[in-house]
Amino acid sequence: MHEPVTRFAPSPNGPLHLGHAYAAIVAHDLAAARGGTFLLRIEDIDGARSRPELAADFRRDLAWLGLSWAEVPAQSSRLAAYETAADRLRAMGLLYPCSCTRAQIAAKAVARGPEGPVYPGTCRGRVAGGTDVSWRLDVEQALARTGPLFWEDALAGMQDARPDLAGDVVLVRKDAPASYHLAATIDDAADGVTLVTRGQDLFAATHIHRLLQALLDLPLPRWHHHPLLVEADGRKLAKRRGSGERGSGGAGWGLAARRTAGEEGPALADALRQQRFPAGICLGPGLN
Ligand code: GLU
Repeated sequence: MHEPVTRFAPSPNGPLHLGHAYAAIVAHDLAAARGGTFLLRIEDIDGARSRPELAADFRRDLAWLGLSWAEVPAQSSRLAAYETAADRLRAMGLLYPCSCTRAQIAAKAVARGPEGPVYPGTCRGRVAGGTDVSWRLDVEQALARTGPLFWEDALAGMQDARPDLAGDVVLVRKDAPASYHLAATIDDAADGVTLVTRGQDLFAATHIHRLLQALLDLPLPRWHHHPLLVEADGRKLAKRRGSGERGSGGAGWGLAARRTAGEEGPALADALRQQRFPAGICLGPGLN
């Protein structure tokens, strides 16, 4: 595999739209420009929302845009690796079981972090698991173990890792052996990703991923968080709004809808590369 290794990691919980196309093209082109490798990974462990049949559409959409990629195993085939990592963190005394509901957390939380109310620590220190619990990372203990950490974003520069801002995040969900944070971190290492390319809506998640890498002795990649495509009012494009119902007479933002309406995929890809966006859509502000 040639470096840099980048990836596009969509979740099959709704059809891809122009924002995904832009993300995939950024990741593809960053690899292609330097003779690297572009990977596709299907992030399908969100049991309730995952629609496996969409993965085939995703591949059709990417091929239609003129992209080529190597596909790595989907998350659903890697559950054992997530369990092993969680066991390791548990053996280090860094995970604790939590049975708090969203409402209980919202009622008690005193701070708001990048992912919503910061967990107030109600179950911290609890040892016994039981059924129907999630497992949270004791971020303070974890940081005490690793010391200060840093990471580098290609656009925003060097960053102090601040996983404390999000608080004790869930790493093992009640209904799945891993949360997004744990699964994506394990996968990026297993897939040999050297440049983690994704939208800047996930910038804060990287603080947590950096901490997990240090705890689990995983290699340190670089990151490239790109601006998101947004609507005129600044809202990011959302899967539920973008699947074809949008746009006066056009095929909307959904890729499958545009593809089946006969649009030329490579021409659309080139327009996105040149930042010529369909009416009503523009690139959101950068981070600096
Ligand atoms: N699966 C995530 C999504 O669809 C992307 C995760 C990532 O790029 O790290 O938003």
